Parts: sequence; structure tokens; C-alpha cells
Amino acid sequence: MNESQRRAWAALDIGPAWVLRASPSPTPGLSPAAGPADLAGLDLDGLRERVALCEACSLSRARSQTVFGVGDRQAHWMVIGEAPGVEEDRRGEPFVGQAGRLLDAMLASVGLGRDRGVFIANVLKCHPPANRNPRPEEVEQCAPFLRRQVELLRPRLILVVGRFAAQTLLGTDASIASLRGRVHRYRVGELDVPVVVTYHPAYLLRDRHEDKARCWQDLCLARATAGPPG
Ligand code: URA
Repeated sequence: MNESQRRAWAALDIGPAWVLRASPSPTPGLSPAAGPADLAGLDLDGLRERVALCEACSLSRARSQTVFGVGDRQAHWMVIGEAPGVEEDRRGEPFVGQAGRLLDAMLASVGLGRDRGVFIANVLKCHPPANRNPRPEEVEQCAPFLRRQVELLRPRLILVVGRFAAQTLLGTDASIASLRGRVHRYRVGELDVPVVVTYHPAYLLRDRHEDKARCWQDLCLARATAGPPG
């Protein structure tokens, strides 16, 4: 274990003695697929431009800028959160606040980072005012962008953080507690990507020591499912 991993583990309240016990157990896919035809020809840069121009819902009128996502274009993990917060709206990058620092520590604990094997995005590309929950019509309008991102990045694994993103991606209203600990599937086009669900880092910041330990188990499950980097 190197020093940066040791620090990351400390941020997660986990000791170096943890050993992966869970083994991936795929479950049938729950999510619908297929984005609109007009995104089909776009590469990642074209998609980013299309997102930046989007005015499909009222969030476009309140945003400072869209938050497309950030990370490694050769990513083998994709991390998907809910929606940009105030700081993300200001900086145009997902997970840049305190929760983002914990997310970075979570990723570092398994030897990954936002420019090292991971691409980070959200279900919504615009900040909902006053951090309110995203509305169904906003999710519906924005979903094709995320589907196209997944199609283009072809990750080996999706790590979904938080209840909202998990429920949206998997098309369920089940709790995080019932969704974590096993491998789900996200299907888009011919892709069939394993999905691991874990707690949102903003939730873990509220001194949830036991859930941090569960999060570590989830990260180990994700790592075992995705296989070694490269
Ligand atoms: N929470 C999220 O779900 N996404 C972000 O980008 C920031 C906070």
C-alpha cells in the first residue's frame, strides 16, 4: 500500500487489514436503453457541445454552465452522481466540493483517480436551484446524454453514488441498503455494463462510520467486478 492509498483509506475510516470477500453476482438488468437518434453520431466532444447548448428544461435558465463530466477518456470505471451542486455549477466540473474530495479519496483507496481510469458524470448536467431534488421531466430530458456518454466511454464498470442516481439508473425505487452489495446491469444499445451501487459521499461526510465501511466493501466489489486497470 502506498502513502496516497494510506491517506485515502484513513479518510474512509478503514484500516489496511480489509480483505475482499464478496464476489460479483450479476443480477438481471433493470434499466431501459437506447438514446435518441440525433445523439448517435456524436463523439464525446460533440456531445459536450450539444449538452452545453441544451435548453430542453427550465434548469437551463438558472444554470451558470452545464457540467458535462470529467476524467479519463480511456476510463474503465464511470462514476455517476445525481446533479451538480452550487460549486460544480460555478466551476463546470462534477464533485469539486467537500463531497468531491471524499469521492477522490474513495477512488484513491482502490488506486484510481479522476484522471486515472475514471470518468465522473451526473444524471443531470445542470444544477437544480437550491439543491432541490431533480424532477422526473428533467431526468427524462437529460437521460439521453448520460446514455450516450456510457456508449462512448464503454466503461467496464459503473459505480453509482447515492440513492437518486441509483434509482434513476436502475429504474427502481429500492433503497440503497437493498441495492448495494451485488452487481446490477445497465444496458444501452449492445452494451451491458455491470453496476455497483454505494452511498453518496455527501451522506458519508455526516460521520457515517458504519456506512463508510460498507462503502469500502462496495469499492472492493467494484474493483473485483471491473478487473485490474489497463
Ligand atoms: N453531488 C452530486 O451528485 N454530483 C456532483 O457533481 C456534486 C455533488
